[in-house]
Order: sequence, then structure tokens, then C-alpha cells
Amino acid sequence: MQDTDALLEFEGVDKYFGQNHVLKDVDLSVEEREVVVVIGPSGSGKSTLLRCTNRLEEVQDGEIRLDGVSLTDPETDINALRQRIGMVFQSFNLFPHKTALENISLAPEKVKGTPESDAKGDADDLLERVGLDGQGSSYPNQLSGGQQQRVAIARALAMNPQVMLFDEVTSALDPELVGEVLDVMRNLAEEGMTMLVVTHEMGFAREVGDRIVLMADGKVVEKTPAEQFFEEPTTERGRRFLSRLL
Ligand code: ADP
Ligand code: MG
Repeated sequence: MQDTDALLEFEGVDKYFGQNHVLKDVDLSVEEREVVVVIGPSGSGKSTLLRCTNRLEEVQDGEIRLDGVSLTDPETDINALRQRIGMVFQSFNLFPHKTALENISLAPEKVKGTPESDAKGDADDLLERVGLDGQGSSYPNQLSGGQQQRVAIARALAMNPQVMLFDEVTSALDPELVGEVLDVMRNLAEEGMTMLVVTHEMGFAREVGDRIVLMADGKVVEKTPAEQFFEEPTTERGRRFLSRLL
């Protein structure tokens, strides 16, 4: 561990796509049990930040650490570290020919070697946790978008991650299905899950977020406790962002 008790830390992170400098000297820490909500305009680097966190993208400079262990060091066993990071995307990407239960139990069985009966039992518990008990034998196309996204959250939780990353997980859903997914995330936060959440759902950000991180043009331009951010952002950029929402 470093000088803070942060679980997840970004220090001086730079990311380029060719000439395009998309993350600029990003410093950010997420404490254990903290919910950090990342907001900002489209193209500001929010998804890239999350994708760098589990090395779906490589960074060019700086360091990302989980529990003090570098994620960016080539020596690090990235597969082991990845198991400790759950990620849920806008598109659910469930395996279409597997049931909800199988989607959830697959990685524990294949990656962790959990015996099938244990993995299935855990998957049952997870389905209940996301409000889908009794749906284990359903295939993705038999489920609504909100239900599929809840299966995707359960699938990520099945690996028992230390931190969960959410990238606009409700953006592709019909409006009436957004609430059920946010409820699951709210419950997770209440249970003490450490979460880094990219969302446009400002009600959620305000209620569930501990801190708001505003990104613009690849930079973190504001990091403020959620209550304060929505009352009185500390930067002009933050004020402008909020005023556009009103
Ligand atoms: P956000 O999630 O905030 O909308 P992104 O992280 O998706 O922003 O994108 C940040 C910048 O990086 C944008 O300029 C985008 O065009 C660029 N970008 C994202 N992914 C790629 C990629 N795979 N290849 C090249 N450029 C990319
Ligand atoms: Mg994005």
C-alpha cells in the first residue's frame, strides 16, 4: 500500500490513441467502500479510464494500482489482478446460447476452477441478489434489457471482485428499465462495494456517489464530494456542466 488507504489509484496516467492524447496526467483514488462517479461530456475519456483499469487498453505513462499492486507494470500477473476487478458495460454481452445461470457460473468454473455445483449454487444466490430468483434457466433473449444487465452485474460479482467498474450501464436501456438496474447498484454500494461508476444518471450520482469526478478533454477537472458538487461545484467547468443539466 502507498501513503493513502486507497484501494484503486491512478497516478499521472497518460493515454494516447495515436496522436490523440485522451487521458492527460490523471490522478484519482478510490478508497475502499467508496463510490466514485465519473461524469463528463462524450469523448472526455471516461470509458478509456475504465478500460485502462483492467488493461483492456495500455497506458503510456503513469501508474494504476489496485491495493498497492501496479496494474501497469509488465511484470504483474494481469490475469490474476483482473479477477479482482469486475466490469459492466453499456452492452450486456451475455453469451446468447447460455442460460442466465450458466452466464454467471461460467467464469468461476473455467477461470477459478470452482466445482460446478458450487458455482451454480453461488450463481443462484447472485440471481437472488440482483432480484432475478427463478430466472436462472432463462436465455438472454427471453429477458428484458434491464434483466440482462442485472445478469451481467451478477456475472461480474461471481468472481468476487474487490472493485466494480460500471460504464454507462443504463444508457442502452428503455427508460422504464433504468431504475431496476440502478437499484441493484445502490444495494451494492450500501453493502460496501468499492465502485467506480461512469453514468449520466445525476439522481444516482447525487444519492449514491460519495465523490464526483468531472472529466473534460482527457483531464480530471474536478473531484468533489457529491453533495457539494451538486450544491456548489468548485470549478467553473463544474458549474457549466451542471447548468447545462438544469
Ligand atoms: P467517453 O467515454 O468519455 O465518451 P472515450 O474514453 O470513449 O470517451 O473516448 C475518449 C477519446 O478517445 C475520444 O476522442 C475517442 O474518439 C478516443 N477513442 C476511444 N477509444 C478509441 C479507440 N479504440 N481507438 C482510437 N480512439 C479511441
Ligand atoms: Mg464512454
